[in-house]
Amino acid sequence: MWPAGNSHYREKRVTAEILDGRAMGAEIKVELRDEVRKYVQEQGRSPGLAIVRVGGDAASGMYSKAILRVAEVVGVRARLEELPEQTPADELRAILQHLNADEATQGILVQMPLPAHLSQKMVADTVTPAKDIDGISPRSAGDLFLGLPSFLPSTAAAVMEMLGRTSTPLAGKRVVILGRSNVVGKPLSMMLLQKNATVTICHSRTVHLADFTRQGDVLVSAAGRANLITADMVRPGAVVIDVGINALPGGGIVGDVDFASVREVAGALTPTPGGVGPLTNVLLLKQCLQAAWREIENSPSHL
Ligand code: NAD
Repeated sequence: MWPAGNSHYREKRVTAEILDGRAMGAEIKVELRDEVRKYVQEQGRSPGLAIVRVGGDAASGMYSKAILRVAEVVGVRARLEELPEQTPADELRAILQHLNADEATQGILVQMPLPAHLSQKMVADTVTPAKDIDGISPRSAGDLFLGLPSFLPSTAAAVMEMLGRTSTPLAGKRVVILGRSNVVGKPLSMMLLQKNATVTICHSRTVHLADFTRQGDVLVSAAGRANLITADMVRPGAVVIDVGINALPGGGIVGDVDFASVREVAGALTPTPGGVGPLTNVLLLKQCLQAAWREIENSPSHL
């Protein structure tokens, strides 16, 4: 295994060290609260976040509440707009356009999944890139692709934050990602390339998956398949980041990684829950603060 970077985050287990996302999330919250305080002192108001949720998806409801809780802790003024399942596309577009122009809103988050009659593309095209704090717009994705500063999808950003906080070296390392979604696998691959990692993306059509996963100095699984990654698929000493969240039929959640067996092989491993998840919300709010500062920098009086 590589030398431990910041042992504060690592709790010794049988073999793998456990990467404690809750401890990291708590630390970032404290830093962010101080940064928000500085913004409030200078600007005389808090950054504003609007969360838009259409329909009654249970997971997105829990996620919205979790964001509201973190926002309160760090001092971001967040509000949740809950719209009925049948909301027409034109109405949603008009609400987003209103938020785009709203001076009290610096960040906009539209919760996924949307009801079937609403298009994710319409939402991504409508949210103004300046307030697109979860990096869903074509502009944000394009900037990331080009290596320019951009808002990042918060889950992918959380993986990078975790690797950074544990001082996991990336330059020249082989990183294998499972999953090619627009919110995790694809943006994460771009962020890792920027750090000079050698990146492989595997997906549902990859054949001989284990041949790839075994090559990873870092293995990130975002497939959403319980127990997909077993010990024999992991390179000894690898850093394993489990993004997957899978509900068990009898209740409870697990990741994609068979935690009990992989901890005997990996050098470091995230638990589920308590891994990447706790970093996601706090990074979203961090990007809301960034959006608020950018708004000031780009305002005519500042130019
Ligand atoms: P998605 O369904 O959009 O994408 C899943 C990806 O996994 C696809 O690209 C697919 O090709 C790939 N895949 C499926 N089966 C595979 C297999 N057997 N082998 C290799 N690849 C396979 O999902 P998503 O939105 O990217 O989310 C992925 C997982 O991460 C889900 O479990 C989701 O719940 C979880 N998630 C967690 C957080 C968090 O904060 N921790 C946030 C977002 C998503």
